[in-house]
Amino acid sequence: GQKQSGRQFVVAIDQGTTSTRAIIFDRNGRVVNSEQIEHRQIFPRPGWVEHDAAEIWRNARRVTAAAMASAQLTTANIVACGITNQRETTVVWDRATGTPVHNAIVWQDTRTAELCERLADGQGPDRYRSRTGLPLSTYFAGPKLLWLLENVDGLRERAEAGELCFGTMDSWLAWNMTGGVNGGLHITDVTNASRTMLMDLQTLDWDPEICADFGIPMSMLPEIRSSSEVYGHLTSPGVPEGVPLAGILGDQQAATFGQACLAPGHAKNTYGTGNFLLLNTGTEPVFSDHGLLTTVCYRIGDAPACYALEGSIAVTGSLVQWLRDNIGLISSAAEIEELATSVDDNGGAYIVPAFSGLFAPRWRPDARGVIIGLTRFINRGHLARAALEASAFQTREVIEAMEADSGVALTTLKVDGGMVVNDLLMQFQADLLGVPVVRPVVNETTALGAAYAAGLAVGYWLGADDIYANWAEDKRWHPHMPDEERARLYAEWNRAVEHSLDLA
Ligand code: ADP
Repeated sequence: GQKQSGRQFVVAIDQGTTSTRAIIFDRNGRVVNSEQIEHRQIFPRPGWVEHDAAEIWRNARRVTAAAMASAQLTTANIVACGITNQRETTVVWDRATGTPVHNAIVWQDTRTAELCERLADGQGPDRYRSRTGLPLSTYFAGPKLLWLLENVDGLRERAEAGELCFGTMDSWLAWNMTGGVNGGLHITDVTNASRTMLMDLQTLDWDPEICADFGIPMSMLPEIRSSSEVYGHLTSPGVPEGVPLAGILGDQQAATFGQACLAPGHAKNTYGTGNFLLLNTGTEPVFSDHGLLTTVCYRIGDAPACYALEGSIAVTGSLVQWLRDNIGLISSAAEIEELATSVDDNGGAYIVPAFSGLFAPRWRPDARGVIIGLTRFINRGHLARAALEASAFQTREVIEAMEADSGVALTTLKVDGGMVVNDLLMQFQADLLGVPVVRPVVNETTALGAAYAAGLAVGYWLGADDIYANWAEDKRWHPHMPDEERARLYAEWNRAVEHSLDLA
């Protein structure tokens, strides 16, 4: 192996919905080494999705140790560590023992649908939108936390006695990485906090009134910190001891950062488990009239926070997983492209994957998935194609909402995430939008964004210019589809969506 002594790197832990990765980056923002482990998806009932938080922490330690070992790196080679994470997924653990009191409730889980209606208190889903930027929805962490307090025996009493910690995955990992039961940090960053429905977007602090309305004891909430500062140092076995923990960003905000979307008007779209389009709107929050979220994009140390408009789509890549795991249409995610290429078009078939209801721009928890347009002609290839096209159609919907809210027309779309290796999907996306789609050389933008946040805090990178300089284009897909064809397909998609709402 190559001798690394004297060389310096940043490690990012990317705790995603399907897997946990550790990725080591150099100063050019290039991947030096990475390791990844998938974790169990637990589906106890229709609409419920859980993760084992202890498994995830074990995986985070394993991938970090393995990524360093196989690159022959020691603690001395690592200048900082950053965390990025699946957002909203909710963990509650015992402050004294460090044991989670229940499986983590995952962001896709819809068990809080009725609870959200109750919290709206007759004022509709936008009751807290002006303060939090979010509609009352099963998606966010606050209602999930409340569900745990109301449904796990003895939890409310223990919470009120100050015995429990709440956190999203960033908090859970930070607490464990900086000492765990021996007194780790109980922190989160502004981007993760902005997804709880409990934080005020202007003060960047927990909103005592909302916490009181929800009935959530504020003693269980983590301290809200910036996205880039030295929070503390790593002390647990399996993580590089003594290294500063210096960056935390929710995964989509991290990808925005890693794509160098650092000025108002810059946007990216990530194709992972779900799709997430974020537009940097600068230091003032912009509120949406078209079903988008207002969220914190990042806050670097003491600088003013930057905000984003976000179009969140619950199910894109996870439809591919579903076709693999539940239906057996394919045996690997990559296989879907070959299958989809075996046909010329979707043959009239459309899949609306409303497994968690529909998120942006509709926010309909009651919508259900549909496959329509079936004839004797339809084969496996058409279904594979319809599944991929669903990501592109849903993306077009949120882009139209973004253009309506911002008044700015998209000229190119920067993309990243697990699905963007799929050429057929990327070409169809360009065709359906009528603008070029652009993929960067480093597709691990989520981990890269967390690495940037951590590296900036310790002076490894100096500022936005370093990040802009590191961004490089890998591939560009140009639109070729005739306008009438584009309009016809989109109209048919919209009819399919109407069917998914009819099932409500
Ligand atoms: P996350 O960070 O949300 O866990 P990733 O960015 O790792 O997700 O993307 C994983 C998703 O990408 C999975 O849902 C998988 O089904 C999908 N995926 C992976 N490879 C392909 C491919 N070649 N074509 C289409 N989808 C793919």
